[in-house]
Amino acid sequence: MKTCYMCEKAAVSSEHVPPKCLFPQSKDIKGPNLRLHLITVPSCDIHNSAKSKDDEFLMVALAGIFGNNSIGYQHKFTKVNRAIKRSANRLLDAAFTKRKHYLLERDNDYLEIIWGTFDHLRLQECFTHIAYGLYFHHFQRRFEGQTKVLMGYLHSSDASNNTFVQFIKSRAAIDLKEVEKNGDNPDVFYYQFVDPDEHGIFMLHMRFYGGIDIYVSFLPEGKPKPFNLAIELMNAGIETVIDLDGNEYRVNSKS
Ligand SMILES: [Zn+2]
Repeated sequence: MKTCYMCEKAAVSSEHVPPKCLFPQSKDIKGPNLRLHLITVPSCDIHNSAKSKDDEFLMVALAGIFGNNSIGYQHKFTKVNRAIKRSANRLLDAAFTKRKHYLLERDNDYLEIIWGTFDHLRLQECFTHIAYGLYFHHFQRRFEGQTKVLMGYLHSSDASNNTFVQFIKSRAAIDLKEVEKNGDNPDVFYYQFVDPDEHGIFMLHMRFYGGIDIYVSFLPEGKPKPFNLAIELMNAGIETVIDLDGNEYRVNSKS
């Protein structure tokens, strides 16, 4: 009997990770099929219905973000906008806690830009579910322990936080150099698992639409929480300088 990717209950259905709606349909995008060999995992009733509500939310929150490749944009201006229209903007209200619309002139046309504050917690939950699903798919067992999500594409009004994100990104770029990319539609999505470090912690990198980076760290159950001096100092609000490959990252800078 198969069990759920999130809990120990019996699986009653299967779940796409990431959600299928993130992958454009061929009627909307000219070119190759972008729904090749999508990943599915077994899911219980609760985790199946909880997640399906989040799928469209995630789709709206990710498509059309600056830095996306053309597939992300095409997806935004076809399927995503249809879904938003159908929902009478309810989907947008759900994705952004505050939002503003701007019209940007481009090529004699107007491009609507939405600028706002994302519903952070809900996004975090979506990525956590995807991370558990990918772990299940990749290692053929359920992950038990703690995870932490870092959204590399969100900019914060807090400069220290941005420096920290920049540091994690540079560190990840080094760690990920030789690591295999998984996923048969890499222009839409691929993922990489980095081997555990000396504390047993390992990292998952997910990339959406060629430009959105999400990092998830996994701390397996039974492993002691490592004490990382730099991170403790940063959390305490103490000015910290981290040196990585000759670049300095200053966090909580007083100057
Ligand atoms: Zn479950």
